[in-house]
Amino acid sequence: MARGYMGRLLFVNLTTGELKDEELDEKLCKDFIGSYGIAARILYSRQKGGVDALGPENMLGLITGPLTGTPATFGARYAAVAKSPLTGSWGDANSGGHFGPYMKFAGYDGLFFTGISDKPVYLLIDNGKARLKDARIFWGKSTYETEDTLEAEYGPTAKVACIGPAGEKMARVACIMTNRGDAAGRSGLGAVMGSKRLKAVVARGEMKVPVFDLEAANNLRKEHMEEGKKFLEYFGRYGTGGHGDTSAHSGDTPVKNWGGVGVVAIPDVSGLNKDKIIANLERRKGCWHCPAACKGALKAGIEYPYPAGNHRLEYETIGAFGANCANTNAESINMASHLCNSYGMDTISAGSIIAFAMELYEHGIITKKDTGGIDLKWGDPRALVAMTEKLVKREGIGDVLADGVKLAAERIGKGAQEFAVHIGGQELGMHDPKGTFFGARMTTAMYHMDATPGRHTTGFGPSQFLQFVSSAAGLCMHGGMAGNPPKYISGFLKAVTGWDRSAEELLKNGERIANMRHVFTLREGDNPIKRTVHGRIIGRPPQTEGPLAGVSTDMEAQAYWNLGALDWDRVTTKPNRNKLIELGLNDVAEELWPPQATPPMFGGPPRR
Ligand code: SF4
Repeated sequence: MARGYMGRLLFVNLTTGELKDEELDEKLCKDFIGSYGIAARILYSRQKGGVDALGPENMLGLITGPLTGTPATFGARYAAVAKSPLTGSWGDANSGGHFGPYMKFAGYDGLFFTGISDKPVYLLIDNGKARLKDARIFWGKSTYETEDTLEAEYGPTAKVACIGPAGEKMARVACIMTNRGDAAGRSGLGAVMGSKRLKAVVARGEMKVPVFDLEAANNLRKEHMEEGKKFLEYFGRYGTGGHGDTSAHSGDTPVKNWGGVGVVAIPDVSGLNKDKIIANLERRKGCWHCPAACKGALKAGIEYPYPAGNHRLEYETIGAFGANCANTNAESINMASHLCNSYGMDTISAGSIIAFAMELYEHGIITKKDTGGIDLKWGDPRALVAMTEKLVKREGIGDVLADGVKLAAERIGKGAQEFAVHIGGQELGMHDPKGTFFGARMTTAMYHMDATPGRHTTGFGPSQFLQFVSSAAGLCMHGGMAGNPPKYISGFLKAVTGWDRSAEELLKNGERIANMRHVFTLREGDNPIKRTVHGRIIGRPPQTEGPLAGVSTDMEAQAYWNLGALDWDRVTTKPNRNKLIELGLNDVAEELWPPQATPPMFGGPPRR
């Protein structure tokens, strides 16, 4: 077995209670690196298409990469994967914290769950042994209480990933939480965990991740930290929350449910300034062994009653509950973030849902009668917090909204669909593809065409192959900002696993991962090119004032170009048969391109 891996996967059938260890196949590691790459291959092979995302057959995977829990700088990530109940298609989400490394220290590279338990349970993996335990006393408890209680019980070498009440109630925007604020946020995978009555996973261990050349890995880490010194300093101080104000005015952050203009709707964005965001900071914190430590714990709130230890705001949360709701009150965003984190709900989707509800309220599609008396006006911080509380608890109209804007609009009717901004059922990340982010333009294809629609951290097309490798390896995407990513991604992979892969081989890995995630999506009947894209996302019609006036994106051209470059059909998006075979995905090629009977010639028998 290559180094960097613990060499074991655990398969748990929650219906029968059976736990089965499997050796991690070395070929899987060579072909798919790890994390969502390996998981996509496993889910495609072991699960049939069309299963109910909240049913027993949907397999939920929590999985690390070979660099997770090693000296690799930023090697702290794990991924959650399953068929998404929000999009009905491939769903993945990526999280930092300490849980990923501890999964490996507990002896496993990945954990896969099927079935539905007859009572709430949690899984304990403990230095190579696994057990299911009764979790009835944790059901209904917040993620904070669950995590704190289990970590206190199992000691300092135990880390917990869990769901909160939102996941238990199968809100389709529920997420999986760890480290009191780190989320595997996208795709509604907390609802999948809730559907299985799996409250938590506790990973306890002191096992060592084998490293091929420890000295080389440590030296590379030092070099990376030296090269990224300036970035680490800034990022450690402000994290991703250093540009909430400037992005609100530059056209980067969507404003008023993607329909507004920052400089017009919220001329004063000083409340979102980076120093306001960290004003109540008690201490910095970070993911396992990360030199950036870009996160933080707040002191208890005064204006709003959030508890001490509340997770410092990250950009996506600032954008979703800030400019997108025309709200510039940072303390109210801290409170909304606390509600989401403790109940286990994705802040991107939750903030987008509140913005959607505010717009419905503006147009009289919902009224005070529906909101339970909340005067849900744009930018009103108290109303925003009150509605978020209803949302995370699935109370009143919160129950209607908690499955995302697409389903909510269908339930509400009365023209609500016009204001439901999503792609494929998922609310979008907080970077407008018509704008620029630190000079770089996001692409619509990223939101529109990726296997997980609406995600901003995984792009689309060949330009993203190396990013797929980085994520599959277990690295944080922010590492790329601290230095030259190809050098460090390939360098750490070589030092940790011992495999010396050329740049072309690594890109081939990335391409294989892209194809594998995509064919899962296709098998679910989801052709990305047919996904409806709200006109506000692409500027149709374009805005008439502000930095994005007159700007629209050529979504079709982006899809067309990338599909050609990927060798995927431009209508069906099916990968070319020869491409699949070139990538070693012969079984997929057979499934997608079954042999055809040769047509009879001139009415005669088929030719052999
Ligand atoms: S940069 Fe931030 S999010 Fe990334 S691993 Fe470090 S602490 Fe975690």
